[in-house]
Amino acid sequence: MDIKKLEAWYLSNQRKLSFRNTKNPYHIWVSEIMLQQTQVETVLPYFERFIQKYPTVFELAKANEEELQKEVEGIGYYRRFRNMHLAAKIIVNEHGGIFPSTYEEVIKLPGIGKYTAGAMMSIAYNEPYSALDGNVIRVLSRVYGNASDMRQEKNRKVLDQINQSLVEKATPDIYTHAIMELGATLCKPKHPQCDLCPLKSDCLAYDKNIVLDLPVLSKLKPKTELNYITLIIEKDGYLFLNKREEDLLKGMYEYPQFESESILSVIAELESKDIFMNIINEMKTFKHVFTHQVWHMKVYSVTLLSKPYPSWVKVKKDELNQLPMAIAHRKIK
Ligand code: SF4
Repeated sequence: MDIKKLEAWYLSNQRKLSFRNTKNPYHIWVSEIMLQQTQVETVLPYFERFIQKYPTVFELAKANEEELQKEVEGIGYYRRFRNMHLAAKIIVNEHGGIFPSTYEEVIKLPGIGKYTAGAMMSIAYNEPYSALDGNVIRVLSRVYGNASDMRQEKNRKVLDQINQSLVEKATPDIYTHAIMELGATLCKPKHPQCDLCPLKSDCLAYDKNIVLDLPVLSKLKPKTELNYITLIIEKDGYLFLNKREEDLLKGMYEYPQFESESILSVIAELESKDIFMNIINEMKTFKHVFTHQVWHMKVYSVTLLSKPYPSWVKVKKDELNQLPMAIAHRKIK
């Protein structure tokens, strides 16, 4: 593969993105974490606000957990920010607030796997480490005509080794940005723009006219469909909310909800625990799609006639917007 052509293409065609105008490892780390699983256009405003609120790792380490969650509400995959908060504390306590600069130290931080460690080393420190993400997998599987199933770890490893050997011959920060940018802008999954591509003459998939067949990705398991009864419980200008303990959306607030298709069975279950309520009306049904789950929520407005459930939190209605809330629930009212 002609690395020089790829790098030259990047230098004159790269999108101007705020988090690229920096060599500050903290900024690069924040952007790389946000870019995991999230589109660039979505990340941009979150990144700007986040860096304003937490300009250095010291502010992030001291952040209030709920405020931090509120800051990233709506972006999804919140575990990455819980890990980022933990990592910030480690960077402050064990590295004097300076982002570590060796691969071995970087990969030990919570929430940093092989991809992010490689991206940090190559982009922030210009060291030759492979950072293999979905875009890079697509470009390399097409350029090398690799038709193995890229859902399998062993097959991704083959591309990772190829990417490692390429970055070792390249200028690491430019190469890593360049191959990701090519995947994001020209070598797209459905509408690749091969005519504009600097790698066209090296690309086996283009040569054999099999571009749209690659990368091969076996089917994912179908998402789990879950039915919930969701309760809007108001009393004297207050709402009762639940703070999630589950790994999915941990720490976010939600209206109390119960896995069931019937409000009557939920009411009966609560009555068995001495919690009584009147149904006012069925408000709406909502559907929210996550990566592995689909929630079907029937939302009821109810009045509470007894004490609340012990874990429910009483929140003033007009303070609802200050709390981090699962978007599936934020869109209800
Ligand atoms: S020629 Fe087409 S398929 Fe090959 S790398 Fe370029 S954009 Fe991707």
